[in-house]
Amino acid sequence: MTDEERIRQLREELNEYDYHYYVLDDPLVPDEYYDRLMRELRELEAKHPELVTPDSPTQRVGGQAASQFEEVRHEVPMLSLDNAFSEEEMRAFDRRLHELLGIEEDQPLQYCAEPKLDGLAISLLYEDGLLVRAATRGDGRVGENITANARTLRAIPLRLKGDPPPRVEARGEVYMPHEGFRKLNEEQLRKGQKTFANPRNAAAGSLRQLDPKVTAERPLTYTSYQLAQLEGADWPPTQYDQMLFLKQLGLPISPYMERLQGIEACFDYFRHIGEQRDQLPFDIDGVVFKLDRRDQQRKAGFVSRAPRWAIAWKFPAQEVMTRLLEVEFQVGRTGALTPVARLEPVQVGGVTVSNATLHNMDEIERKDIRIGDCVIVRRAGDVIPEIVKVVMKYRKPGFRKPQMPKRCPVCGSEVVREEGHAVYRCTGGLGCPAQRKEAIKHFASRKAMDIDGLGDKLVEQLVERGLVEDVADLYHLTLEQLMDLERMGEKSARNLLEALERSKSTTLPRFIYALGIREVGEATAESLAQHFGDLPPLMEASEEELQEIEDVGPVVAFNIVHFFAQPRNREVIDKLLAAGIHWPKQEPVDRQALPLAGKTYVITGTLEHYSREQAKQLLKALGAKVSSSVSKKTSAVIAGEKPGSKLEKAERLGVPVLDEAAFEQLIAREALIDS
Ligand code: NAD
Repeated sequence: MTDEERIRQLREELNEYDYHYYVLDDPLVPDEYYDRLMRELRELEAKHPELVTPDSPTQRVGGQAASQFEEVRHEVPMLSLDNAFSEEEMRAFDRRLHELLGIEEDQPLQYCAEPKLDGLAISLLYEDGLLVRAATRGDGRVGENITANARTLRAIPLRLKGDPPPRVEARGEVYMPHEGFRKLNEEQLRKGQKTFANPRNAAAGSLRQLDPKVTAERPLTYTSYQLAQLEGADWPPTQYDQMLFLKQLGLPISPYMERLQGIEACFDYFRHIGEQRDQLPFDIDGVVFKLDRRDQQRKAGFVSRAPRWAIAWKFPAQEVMTRLLEVEFQVGRTGALTPVARLEPVQVGGVTVSNATLHNMDEIERKDIRIGDCVIVRRAGDVIPEIVKVVMKYRKPGFRKPQMPKRCPVCGSEVVREEGHAVYRCTGGLGCPAQRKEAIKHFASRKAMDIDGLGDKLVEQLVERGLVEDVADLYHLTLEQLMDLERMGEKSARNLLEALERSKSTTLPRFIYALGIREVGEATAESLAQHFGDLPPLMEASEEELQEIEDVGPVVAFNIVHFFAQPRNREVIDKLLAAGIHWPKQEPVDRQALPLAGKTYVITGTLEHYSREQAKQLLKALGAKVSSSVSKKTSAVIAGEKPGSKLEKAERLGVPVLDEAAFEQLIAREALIDS
């Protein structure tokens, strides 16, 4: 293909992506792919300036006013930002500014930095202190009048504070925090409506609603990042001061904004924000650095679509496009088969990803995923990568749907679908090596028998070499057997044997949990231990008796009885006890006699001295129930710092509210904290 043909192709493709992204709020491809094509087009156009056409996507800011809204002509164009992706590009930016300003390189420039919020840009015009017009960026010169919608955002003041000048235009970002985004998508799914690909598109789709009532219901917020026009007052001399000026007028600005001296300080700042990124309650996609002094900004000037004095240093993309090579099925501890996507390896958020979870068959159906598809993969923080959606544009007719296998891919046993559930299971039980491995991993895990040094890889070797058939075999391993394994020296082998020995002295709840009875988690194991006091009465309990226990419903009761009815399970338990596993006997507890029996509490906000889980356990140990929603039946709400809507609801219903001190008194009064 000649450069000319490629330029034409890129132009057409990018214009199509722009339309889907800006007008329909429904991107076809991830930003990373779009940016890659855009870079290629820019480079080709730089090589052949004569081929640049006015309709090239490089020649405008992006976006296009949707026809339904009234048009707004921006008096000061709303530009985009240049991007940097590395320290070198940042250094080049800094060097260029030194040249443009005629300043020696050893003189550090002053920058103003803040996180780059991932939403959409809006302009807010205030006249005599009143919000008279809000507009989207559109193509940078002409945007949409969305005043009625902007007025529904609580973060946007309708009237400025203090003594506002006659005319002020502020610009900033409208965005949707994670919590709101999640709820909105759940709601959309429930209503059978389309879900949004990411918070940025959700924000754009929510702000550009013809009916402001819809916008009002959407969890949008706003932060200012620029002063664009000012009449009747002196311009503050730096970006930093301009922001403080907006703050004084009652407009929100970024609490992370900092003034920095020189490019090295920018690197530190970028690293620092990057470290906080996963904890922030909203999406950011980089950091924006602006030359701080206004006189220097003016001297540096603009290029067609962006100022020369500002740059967005972007984080590595968290959403990228790749190809789905195959769907394989993983067998879990309880035999459940989970589809896993094998992907053409790609860099996502700085790490190489080649697998993604697909959850279950319903998910595959809902997202209409086929093998061979181009898919968008997202990885956020420590979360397991997932497939966001299929890029239908690249779907070919022959692509086949993933099929749930009829037989277990590991042991060949029949696979059955549970009545009324989305789950398919291998019926091989502990005869299936996959289930065996998972059962052993669970048994050894921290909250179960806590066997230090028995990691996943080791378990796999032990099962594959036939050294361990069931969990009880762990306690018969010898030093020679262990030292014979890959990557296992004498020292670690001895350590493991010691850890196994230590694990023999355990507690009843841990042991019950370690058995891996389906749907018996830690909390249920705890209730069972309290109720029965020892293992034999639990093993003989009937479904009816089990259902009397708190947290045990018919399904769990059935699972427990079914588990202990299996001769093989009883055998393993006998072997474990014979190997020397033991726990202190505990007296069975009559929960009805506990001091807080019959009471229900709800916990909201953050307590200073207890995690929520600890507080919950303390209350439960006293016989109380802990619920997640407030009703008239709630005995009291325990409210820590930053309580949520549960506190409001409690107040509305007249439910008593306890602060942390009152909570401590309650549990102390009931005298069950061991001191
Ligand atoms: P941009 O998002 O890279 O940067 C400019 C924008 O950053 C500003 O308009 C503003 O909204 C925002 N911003 C956040 N904090 C800011 C701050 N402190 N100071 C100034 N601005 C701040 O560029 P863009 O022109 O808005 O959008 C282009 C991007 O959109 C592309 O890089 C691409 O990733 C994406 N896009 C994707 C597709 C697609 O199909 N996936 C299509 C079109 C555009």
